[in-house]
Amino acid sequence: MRHSSDNSKQHRCGRVLSALFLGHPQVLVTVPLSIGLLVHAIVRILNREPTHGWSPGELVHCTGVVTAISIFATISVWYMMMVILGSLKRNENGNGSETKMERPHMGGHRLDCIVSQAYLFEHIAEIAKSRRLVGPVAKPCMPGESPQHFYEEIDDVKDLALAFHFSVYSPKRVLLPARETLFQFDNANGSFEAVSQIDDRPTAIVGVHPCDLHAIAMLDAAFGDGLSDSHYMARRNNTFLVGVDCAHPCTAGVFCGDIGSNAATTGFDVMLYPMGDVLKCGASRGSNGNGAEAPEVCYGVMFGSDAGRAWLKGGHDDDYFLPEGSDNEKFDCYLENKQQAFPRTLDPAWEDVPGILDRSYDSLLWKATGRRCYSCGSCNLVCPTCYCFDIQDETDLGGAAGRRERTWDGCMLREFAAVAGGHNFRDAAANRLRHRIYRKGKWIKERTGHGGCVGCARCDRACTAQISIKQILNQLSEEAQHARH
Ligand code: SF4
Ligand code: SF4
Repeated sequence: MRHSSDNSKQHRCGRVLSALFLGHPQVLVTVPLSIGLLVHAIVRILNREPTHGWSPGELVHCTGVVTAISIFATISVWYMMMVILGSLKRNENGNGSETKMERPHMGGHRLDCIVSQAYLFEHIAEIAKSRRLVGPVAKPCMPGESPQHFYEEIDDVKDLALAFHFSVYSPKRVLLPARETLFQFDNANGSFEAVSQIDDRPTAIVGVHPCDLHAIAMLDAAFGDGLSDSHYMARRNNTFLVGVDCAHPCTAGVFCGDIGSNAATTGFDVMLYPMGDVLKCGASRGSNGNGAEAPEVCYGVMFGSDAGRAWLKGGHDDDYFLPEGSDNEKFDCYLENKQQAFPRTLDPAWEDVPGILDRSYDSLLWKATGRRCYSCGSCNLVCPTCYCFDIQDETDLGGAAGRRERTWDGCMLREFAAVAGGHNFRDAAANRLRHRIYRKGKWIKERTGHGGCVGCARCDRACTAQISIKQILNQLSEEAQHARH
């Protein structure tokens, strides 16, 4: 979902020119000096009498001037070429001190409408009458602990915490439950009968951050392409998605900005942009701001589907506004500020990661880091793009009837690659760790076309051994650079 744009070309030109003239002041001397000498020589030649021959002094003088011009011009051109090539190369390799990869760009995208928070919540309450409502709610992990956010079913729309920072789990658990019955079977009368159990309740997930929208797109590709998974797809097709944008990184350590998953332009029915009181809506719209009315919380809105448009447009229009010119200028400003707010923390450009992993299969890092791993599988559990599962049959005591169940599995668990006969294809923690990182950085992308990691850093936060996927990728990138020199 990355967008190239004219802006990025302008940035590239800007980088080249600033590198040329600011980073290399020598160019400021050699270029004007060459031009000055050239002008001096031309003026002298034009001013002299055409009938006069060249005196030995003039001949020496002109030869000196021409030689000096040639030397300065050669040095200047060579310098400029080196600077331009160096600047472009740094940009391609992602090793420059400035932007390392194209940032997600949303230029050209426009708000479809502006709504007040009150209007929005009225409509969320309305949709909850016909759909199961799921969204971020605050609750403590353990009694007495400070609350964190989890995607839960919501009965009262007041519990919906749209302004949450980050969620411990992603909304994946709604589309791919941690445990589900695939079908029930009965062989009691000698004729085998299986009844599919598909939970396709109409659902609305409200408050999905861009990274998790990217993760859902990856799950859609994994479960929907080719032989599609009917259970996942039935739920997905009945799910209405309302995204909410992040103006800033939701917490320390995320690297969604490096990957480009901190912005989404598709994959939702409605996208909300919390632009604070920059946008005006409700009674404050049209006032000069000096009135007694308190500023209302307003959301910029982009529609991603006809269903989204129909949902929010319905009802009274008192708090529903079509954007005016200045609103979209403010939106551009919001997007620009947002791009600046996401720091770069991943050393390699995300596009270079598959190549780096290709060269890192035998790195000693796997063993060194694997030694610290407890093989607890927490990183798998919290990851929005992990989708491995196990299948078990639960039968009654006679074994004639029962159900087939699917549960989440995790490649970091020791038993994950164990097979009949006792062999384990990935017995060592180091091998499991390498497998997980290869899936996130290379294999899933090659398989689905969507990145296997969205940079949410949930795995980093969940790991008690403080093993960090970002640190691993940074270290492998450094190793790969050393290996090249
Ligand atoms: S691997 Fe880690 S950072 Fe990447 S998507 Fe999964 S939990 Fe997020
Ligand atoms: S959460 Fe950390 S310790 Fe647990 S399996 Fe993952 S990397 Fe290993």
